[in-house]
Amino acid sequence: MKTWLFGVWIFVGLSVVGTAIAKPTPVAIVVHGGAGTILKENLTPELEQAYKQTLRDAVEAGHKLLLQGEPGEKAVIAAIQILETSPLFNAGVGAVYTWEGEHELDASIMHGGSLNAGAVAGVKTIRSPIAAALAVMHQSPHVMLSGKGAQLFAQEQGLEIVDNSSFDTERRKQALERAKARMLGAGVYGNQQGNERFGTVGAVVLDKQGNIVSGTSTGGMTAKRYGRIGDSPVIGAGTWADNASCGVSATGHGEFFIRYHVAADICSRVKYQGVSLIDAADTVINGVLKAAGGDGGVIAIDNQGNIATPFNSPGMYRAKIDKNGKLAVGIYKAWEKE
Ligand code: ASP
Repeated sequence: MKTWLFGVWIFVGLSVVGTAIAKPTPVAIVVHGGAGTILKENLTPELEQAYKQTLRDAVEAGHKLLLQGEPGEKAVIAAIQILETSPLFNAGVGAVYTWEGEHELDASIMHGGSLNAGAVAGVKTIRSPIAAALAVMHQSPHVMLSGKGAQLFAQEQGLEIVDNSSFDTERRKQALERAKARMLGAGVYGNQQGNERFGTVGAVVLDKQGNIVSGTSTGGMTAKRYGRIGDSPVIGAGTWADNASCGVSATGHGEFFIRYHVAADICSRVKYQGVSLIDAADTVINGVLKAAGGDGGVIAIDNQGNIATPFNSPGMYRAKIDKNGKLAVGIYKAWEKE
Protein backbone atom coordinates (compact mmCIF):
# COMPACT_ATOMS: atom_id res chain seq x y z
CA MET A 1 0.00 0.00 0.00
CA LYS A 2 2.73 2.41 1.04
CA THR A 3 4.75 1.71 -2.10
CA TRP A 4 1.64 2.34 -4.16
CA LEU A 5 1.05 5.76 -2.51
CA PHE A 6 4.69 6.69 -2.91
CA GLY A 7 4.41 5.92 -6.62
CA VAL A 8 1.39 8.20 -6.97
CA TRP A 9 3.21 11.07 -5.26
CA ILE A 10 6.24 10.66 -7.48
CA PHE A 11 3.96 10.74 -10.52
CA VAL A 12 2.09 13.87 -9.35
CA GLY A 13 5.35 15.56 -8.44
CA LEU A 14 6.93 14.87 -11.83
CA SER A 15 3.81 16.07 -13.65
CA VAL A 16 3.83 19.38 -11.77
CA VAL A 17 7.53 19.91 -12.48
CA GLY A 18 7.02 18.86 -16.10
CA THR A 19 4.18 21.33 -16.60
CA ALA A 20 6.21 24.11 -15.05
CA ILE A 21 9.20 23.38 -17.32
CA ALA A 22 7.26 22.76 -20.59
CA LYS A 23 7.51 25.93 -22.63
CA PRO A 24 4.39 27.22 -24.39
CA THR A 25 4.56 26.64 -28.16
CA PRO A 26 6.09 29.82 -29.60
CA VAL A 27 4.34 31.70 -32.37
CA ALA A 28 6.16 33.88 -34.88
CA ILE A 29 5.31 35.88 -37.99
CA VAL A 30 7.24 37.71 -40.70
CA VAL A 31 5.84 39.69 -43.64
CA HIS A 32 7.35 41.38 -46.70
CA GLY A 33 6.20 44.03 -49.12
CA GLY A 34 8.74 43.39 -51.86
CA ALA A 35 12.47 43.78 -52.41
CA GLY A 36 14.17 46.11 -54.85
CA THR A 37 16.08 49.29 -55.45
CA ILE A 38 14.61 50.94 -52.37
CA LEU A 39 16.80 53.92 -51.51
CA LYS A 40 16.29 56.34 -48.64
CA GLU A 41 16.78 59.34 -50.94
CA ASN A 42 13.81 58.20 -53.06
CA LEU A 43 11.35 57.95 -50.16
CA THR A 44 9.89 61.01 -48.42
CA PRO A 45 9.69 60.68 -44.63
CA GLU A 46 5.89 60.55 -44.95
CA LEU A 47 5.99 57.72 -47.47
CA GLU A 48 8.52 55.84 -45.38
CA GLN A 49 6.21 56.16 -42.37
CA ALA A 50 3.24 54.97 -44.41
CA TYR A 51 5.14 51.84 -45.54
CA LYS A 52 6.27 51.09 -42.00
CA GLN A 53 2.82 51.60 -40.50
CA THR A 54 1.16 49.31 -43.03
CA LEU A 55 3.78 46.59 -42.49
CA ARG A 56 3.30 46.95 -38.75
CA ASP A 57 -0.49 46.70 -39.13
CA ALA A 58 -0.11 43.54 -41.22
CA VAL A 59 2.28 41.77 -38.86
CA GLU A 60 0.26 42.73 -35.78
CA ALA A 61 -3.03 41.54 -37.31
CA GLY A 62 -1.50 38.14 -38.04
CA HIS A 63 0.23 37.89 -34.68
CA LYS A 64 -2.99 38.61 -32.78
CA LEU A 65 -4.68 35.65 -34.47
CA LEU A 66 -1.69 33.40 -33.75
CA LEU A 67 -1.78 34.30 -30.05
CA GLN A 68 -5.48 33.41 -30.00
CA GLY A 69 -4.52 29.95 -31.25
CA GLU A 70 -6.09 30.45 -34.69
CA PRO A 71 -4.69 28.31 -37.52
CA GLY A 72 -1.72 29.74 -39.39
CA GLU A 73 -3.71 30.17 -42.63
CA LYS A 74 -5.92 32.76 -40.95
CA ALA A 75 -2.93 34.79 -39.84
CA VAL A 76 -1.32 34.63 -43.29
CA ILE A 77 -4.55 35.70 -45.00
CA ALA A 78 -5.18 38.56 -42.52
CA ALA A 79 -1.65 39.93 -42.92
CA ILE A 80 -1.58 39.61 -46.71
CA GLN A 81 -5.04 41.13 -47.17
CA ILE A 82 -3.89 44.29 -45.38
CA LEU A 83 -1.02 44.52 -47.88
CA GLU A 84 -3.28 43.64 -50.87
CA THR A 85 -5.65 46.43 -49.85
CA SER A 86 -2.89 49.03 -49.51
CA PRO A 87 -2.00 50.97 -52.71
CA LEU A 88 1.64 51.02 -51.57
CA PHE A 89 2.37 47.44 -52.58
CA ASN A 90 2.36 45.48 -55.83
CA ALA A 91 -0.56 43.18 -54.93
CA GLY A 92 -4.30 43.77 -55.16
CA VAL A 93 -4.89 47.55 -55.16
CA GLY A 94 -1.62 49.09 -56.37
CA ALA A 95 -0.65 46.08 -58.50
CA VAL A 96 1.55 46.86 -61.50
CA TYR A 97 0.12 47.04 -65.04
CA THR A 98 0.60 44.58 -67.86
CA TRP A 99 1.78 45.77 -71.28
CA GLU A 100 -1.90 46.06 -72.27
CA GLY A 101 -2.66 48.29 -69.27
CA GLU A 102 -4.48 45.75 -67.10
CA HIS A 103 -3.66 43.90 -63.88
CA GLU A 104 -3.01 40.14 -63.81
CA LEU A 105 -2.56 38.86 -60.29
CA ASP A 106 -0.84 35.74 -58.92
CA ALA A 107 -0.97 34.25 -55.40
CA SER A 108 -0.24 31.05 -53.51
CA ILE A 109 -0.40 29.53 -50.04
CA MET A 110 1.10 26.39 -48.54
CA HIS A 111 0.54 24.53 -45.25
CA GLY A 112 3.63 22.91 -43.77
CA GLY A 113 1.73 20.27 -41.79
CA SER A 114 -0.38 18.78 -44.58
CA LEU A 115 1.93 19.92 -47.43
CA ASN A 116 -1.29 21.02 -49.07
CA ALA A 117 -1.11 24.08 -51.31
CA GLY A 118 -3.26 26.35 -53.44
CA ALA A 119 -2.48 28.95 -56.10
CA VAL A 120 -4.09 31.22 -58.68
CA ALA A 121 -2.30 32.76 -61.64
CA GLY A 122 -3.18 35.53 -64.07
CA VAL A 123 -6.47 36.47 -62.42
CA LYS A 124 -7.99 39.84 -63.21
CA THR A 125 -11.14 40.29 -61.17
CA ILE A 126 -10.70 38.48 -57.85
CA ARG A 127 -10.53 41.13 -55.13
CA SER A 128 -8.25 39.05 -52.89
CA PRO A 129 -6.04 36.63 -54.84
CA ILE A 130 -4.64 35.15 -51.60
CA ALA A 131 -8.18 34.27 -50.47
CA ALA A 132 -8.66 32.54 -53.82
CA ALA A 133 -5.42 30.59 -53.33
CA LEU A 134 -6.72 29.43 -49.93
CA ALA A 135 -10.01 28.35 -51.52
CA VAL A 136 -8.08 26.34 -54.12
CA MET A 137 -6.14 24.65 -51.31
CA HIS A 138 -9.20 23.74 -49.25
CA GLN A 139 -12.06 23.47 -51.72
CA SER A 140 -10.56 22.00 -54.89
CA PRO A 141 -8.67 18.83 -55.74
CA HIS A 142 -6.09 20.97 -57.61
CA VAL A 143 -3.11 23.07 -56.62
CA MET A 144 -3.05 25.81 -59.28
CA LEU A 145 -5.88 27.41 -61.25
CA SER A 146 -5.35 30.12 -63.85
CA GLY A 147 -7.12 32.90 -65.72
CA LYS A 148 -10.83 32.65 -66.43
CA GLY A 149 -11.20 29.24 -64.82
CA ALA A 150 -9.71 30.49 -61.56
CA GLN A 151 -12.08 33.45 -61.64
CA LEU A 152 -15.11 31.21 -62.21
CA PHE A 153 -13.99 28.98 -59.33
CA ALA A 154 -13.56 32.01 -57.05
CA GLN A 155 -17.00 33.24 -57.98
CA GLU A 156 -18.51 29.82 -57.24
CA GLN A 157 -16.78 29.92 -53.86
CA GLY A 158 -18.50 33.21 -53.10
CA LEU A 159 -15.34 35.31 -53.19
CA GLU A 160 -15.66 38.98 -54.07
CA ILE A 161 -15.34 39.80 -57.77
CA VAL A 162 -14.41 43.35 -58.76
CA ASP A 163 -13.64 45.35 -61.86
CA ASN A 164 -10.01 45.17 -62.95
CA SER A 165 -9.81 48.98 -62.70
CA SER A 166 -10.34 48.77 -58.93
CA PHE A 167 -6.63 47.83 -58.68
CA ASP A 168 -5.58 51.03 -60.57
CA THR A 169 -3.18 53.59 -59.12
CA GLU A 170 -1.68 56.62 -60.86
CA ARG A 171 1.83 55.77 -59.67
CA ARG A 172 1.78 52.33 -61.34
CA LYS A 173 0.26 53.79 -64.52
CA GLN A 174 3.18 56.18 -64.83
CA ALA A 175 5.60 53.31 -64.15
CA LEU A 176 4.03 51.40 -67.06
CA GLU A 177 4.37 54.35 -69.40
CA ARG A 178 8.04 54.78 -68.47
CA ALA A 179 8.78 51.05 -68.86
CA LYS A 180 7.03 50.85 -72.24
CA ALA A 181 8.79 53.97 -73.54
CA ARG A 182 12.14 52.53 -72.51
CA MET A 183 11.48 49.11 -74.03
CA LEU A 184 10.04 50.54 -77.26
CA GLY A 185 12.97 52.95 -77.50
CA ALA A 186 15.48 50.12 -77.11
CA GLY A 187 13.45 47.76 -79.31
CA VAL A 188 13.56 45.12 -76.59
CA TYR A 189 10.69 43.59 -74.68
CA GLY A 190 11.06 41.83 -71.34
CA ASN A 191 14.16 43.49 -69.91
CA GLN A 192 12.31 44.87 -66.90
CA GLN A 193 14.74 46.76 -64.73
CA GLY A 194 15.06 47.91 -61.13
CA ASN A 195 11.71 48.39 -59.48
CA GLU A 196 9.79 47.34 -62.60
CA ARG A 197 9.97 43.79 -61.33
CA PHE A 198 9.44 44.17 -57.61
CA GLY A 199 6.85 44.84 -54.90
CA THR A 200 5.22 41.50 -54.13
CA VAL A 201 3.82 40.85 -50.65
CA GLY A 202 4.03 37.74 -48.47
CA ALA A 203 3.69 36.30 -44.98
CA VAL A 204 5.12 33.27 -43.17
CA VAL A 205 3.96 32.12 -39.73
CA LEU A 206 4.49 29.45 -37.10
CA ASP A 207 1.18 28.86 -35.30
CA LYS A 208 0.40 27.49 -31.82
CA GLN A 209 -0.18 24.02 -33.25
CA GLY A 210 3.38 24.04 -34.59
CA ASN A 211 2.33 24.45 -38.22
CA ILE A 212 4.27 26.65 -40.61
CA VAL A 213 2.15 28.41 -43.25
CA SER A 214 3.47 30.61 -46.08
CA GLY A 215 1.65 32.84 -48.58
CA THR A 216 2.58 35.23 -51.39
CA SER A 217 0.52 37.65 -53.53
CA THR A 218 1.61 39.86 -56.44
CA GLY A 219 0.82 41.84 -59.55
CA GLY A 220 4.05 40.48 -61.07
CA MET A 221 6.24 42.62 -63.32
CA THR A 222 5.44 46.01 -64.83
CA ALA A 223 4.70 45.72 -68.59
CA LYS A 224 4.58 41.90 -68.57
CA ARG A 225 3.08 40.34 -71.73
CA TYR A 226 1.83 37.11 -73.20
CA GLY A 227 0.34 35.84 -69.92
CA ARG A 228 3.71 35.87 -68.18
CA ILE A 229 3.53 34.17 -64.76
CA GLY A 230 6.25 34.73 -62.16
CA ASP A 231 7.40 32.69 -59.19
CA SER A 232 4.81 33.92 -56.68
CA PRO A 233 2.12 31.32 -57.50
CA VAL A 234 4.66 28.57 -58.16
CA ILE A 235 4.92 26.23 -55.17
CA GLY A 236 8.60 25.65 -54.41
CA ALA A 237 9.71 28.82 -56.19
CA GLY A 238 7.91 31.76 -54.55
CA THR A 239 6.20 29.92 -51.69
CA TRP A 240 7.03 26.83 -49.65
CA ALA A 241 6.18 25.38 -46.23
CA ASP A 242 7.16 22.11 -44.55
CA ASN A 243 6.94 21.60 -40.78
CA ALA A 244 9.99 19.34 -41.02
CA SER A 245 12.14 22.32 -42.02
CA CYS A 246 10.81 25.79 -42.79
CA GLY A 247 8.45 28.11 -44.61
CA VAL A 248 9.43 30.74 -47.19
CA SER A 249 7.83 33.56 -49.20
CA ALA A 250 9.96 35.16 -51.91
CA THR A 251 10.14 38.44 -53.78
CA GLY A 252 12.36 39.40 -56.67
CA HIS A 253 13.09 38.61 -60.30
CA GLY A 254 10.65 35.72 -60.64
CA GLU A 255 12.30 33.96 -63.57
CA PHE A 256 15.38 33.27 -61.42
CA PHE A 257 13.31 32.18 -58.43
CA ILE A 258 11.52 29.64 -60.64
CA ARG A 259 14.70 28.29 -62.23
CA TYR A 260 16.50 27.98 -58.89
CA HIS A 261 13.31 26.83 -57.03
CA VAL A 262 14.46 29.21 -54.33
CA ALA A 263 11.84 28.71 -51.60
CA ALA A 264 12.04 24.91 -51.60
CA ASP A 265 15.82 24.92 -52.00
CA ILE A 266 16.24 26.86 -48.73
CA CYS A 267 14.06 24.38 -46.82
CA SER A 268 15.73 21.36 -48.46
CA ARG A 269 19.09 22.59 -47.21
CA VAL A 270 17.65 22.88 -43.69
CA LYS A 271 16.07 19.43 -43.97
CA TYR A 272 18.81 17.40 -45.62
CA GLN A 273 22.02 19.26 -44.81
CA GLY A 274 21.01 20.08 -41.24
CA VAL A 275 22.19 23.68 -41.61
CA SER A 276 20.47 26.52 -39.78
CA LEU A 277 17.71 28.50 -41.45
CA ILE A 278 19.84 31.67 -41.35
CA ASP A 279 22.73 29.92 -43.15
CA ALA A 280 20.53 28.14 -45.71
CA ALA A 281 18.60 31.29 -46.64
CA ASP A 282 21.77 33.36 -46.81
CA THR A 283 23.57 30.81 -49.02
CA VAL A 284 20.69 30.68 -51.52
CA ILE A 285 19.96 34.43 -51.69
CA ASN A 286 23.46 35.92 -51.34
CA GLY A 287 25.35 32.98 -52.86
CA VAL A 288 23.51 30.90 -55.46
CA LEU A 289 20.96 33.47 -56.61
CA LYS A 290 23.33 36.43 -56.63
CA ALA A 291 25.93 34.51 -58.61
CA ALA A 292 23.23 33.65 -61.16
CA GLY A 293 22.25 37.32 -61.48
CA GLY A 294 18.90 37.03 -59.68
CA ASP A 295 17.85 39.98 -57.51
CA GLY A 296 15.51 39.74 -54.56
CA GLY A 297 14.99 38.24 -51.14
CA VAL A 298 12.92 35.98 -48.92
CA ILE A 299 11.27 35.88 -45.54
CA ALA A 300 11.47 32.54 -43.75
CA ILE A 301 10.62 30.81 -40.45
CA ASP A 302 11.81 27.41 -39.22
CA ASN A 303 9.92 24.99 -36.97
CA GLN A 304 11.57 26.50 -33.86
CA GLY A 305 10.26 29.95 -34.75
CA ASN A 306 13.62 31.34 -35.93
CA ILE A 307 13.28 34.03 -38.60
CA ALA A 308 15.54 34.83 -41.59
CA THR A 309 15.06 37.73 -44.02
CA PRO A 310 18.04 37.85 -46.44
CA PHE A 311 17.92 39.98 -49.62
CA ASN A 312 20.56 40.85 -52.17
CA SER A 313 18.91 44.08 -53.36
CA PRO A 314 19.37 47.46 -51.63
CA GLY A 315 16.13 47.08 -49.66
CA MET A 316 13.17 44.89 -48.75
CA TYR A 317 10.02 46.09 -47.00
CA ARG A 318 9.55 43.76 -44.06
CA ALA A 319 8.26 43.34 -40.50
CA LYS A 320 8.38 40.54 -37.94
CA ILE A 321 7.20 39.61 -34.49
CA ASP A 322 9.58 36.95 -33.25
CA LYS A 323 8.97 34.05 -30.85
CA ASN A 324 9.65 36.35 -27.89
CA GLY A 325 6.95 38.75 -29.07
CA LYS A 326 9.45 41.39 -30.22
CA LEU A 327 8.32 43.53 -33.18
CA ALA A 328 10.73 44.96 -35.75
CA VAL A 329 10.27 46.76 -39.06
CA GLY A 330 12.87 47.19 -41.82
CA ILE A 331 13.20 48.75 -45.25
CA TYR A 332 16.94 49.10 -45.85
CA LYS A 333 19.77 46.74 -44.86
CA ALA A 334 19.37 47.03 -41.06
CA TRP A 335 16.25 46.48 -38.99
CA GLU A 336 14.99 49.72 -37.48
CA LYS A 337 14.74 50.34 -33.76
CA GLU A 338 11.11 50.35 -32.59
N1 ASP B 1 8.55 37.81 -57.89
C1 ASP B 1 7.54 38.60 -58.52
C2 ASP B 1 7.42 38.17 -59.97
O1 ASP B 1 8.43 37.90 -60.58
C3 ASP B 1 7.81 40.06 -58.47
C4 ASP B 1 8.13 40.58 -57.11
O2 ASP B 1 8.58 39.87 -56.25
O3 ASP B 1 7.88 41.75 -56.87
O4 ASP B 1 6.34 38.17 -60.47
